[in-house]
Amino acid sequence: MRLYIKLRTMQYLIANWKMKLTIAESVALARQVRDYIARAPVNLKVVLCPSFPALPAVREVIQGTALELGAQDVAHVDRASLTGAVSALQLKELGVTTVLVGHSERRAYFSETNDRVGEKTRYTLAQGLRTVVCVGESSAERAAGMAHTIVAQQVHSAIEGATHSENLIIAYEPVWAIGTGIPVELADAQATARSIAQILSDGASHYPTHTVPVLYGGSVDHHTIGDFTGAPLSGTLVGNASQTAQGLIALLRVFPHSSSS
Ligand code: PEP
Repeated sequence: MRLYIKLRTMQYLIANWKMKLTIAESVALARQVRDYIARAPVNLKVVLCPSFPALPAVREVIQGTALELGAQDVAHVDRASLTGAVSALQLKELGVTTVLVGHSERRAYFSETNDRVGEKTRYTLAQGLRTVVCVGESSAERAAGMAHTIVAQQVHSAIEGATHSENLIIAYEPVWAIGTGIPVELADAQATARSIAQILSDGASHYPTHTVPVLYGGSVDHHTIGDFTGAPLSGTLVGNASQTAQGLIALLRVFPHSSSS
């Protein structure tokens, strides 16, 4: 028997395809998801995040559907001498609605600091992009009992001075859970979502005052997505399980069909 998840507030499924697919593979995957959603719309905001070169082709596939286009990274300014970087202005021209900022792989392999994540967040929110700020502790930080402190620091520096908070989302993605097949315990993810909400409301005079959705990411698959989709969480950011048609459609099948999404 299939367990359907009933959703009351807006919930997200953000598919992070990383650099795993060619442009042709990204297009093929987007087509299969589009066709599935046309037959079985879900009451879920589904955002596909292919790598930069695949954005125009994927846009063409999903145009006119409820699927949205996301980017995996963005620069922190417009029109600068930043070889290899991509601005929010350019992403918007490509139909991108959503950007990931501060993914742990950007922090680890591209030396992105909390300060830079904050700059990107302020910039992309001001540009009107839905901005998904990724935060999360490493296994060493968790073992040292630092998880809460690290996440709190990341959240504070990401949102300091941020305006246009209606477009802000925080994704709690413990580094040790990403791509390992071991998601965090549900109670842990829920407790972290509540503590992030607390940080946001404690700082309401300096920080965003809107209700900011908090997502969970890290080894989510079709067995676990239902757990992580529902208050106090607002859905998931998914890597591996979203990178094949079989995996992504299995994730979508968990949710009841709706007449419109
Ligand atoms: C991610 O990279 O954001 C992620 C959640 O990956 P995975 O689902 O593969 O753990």
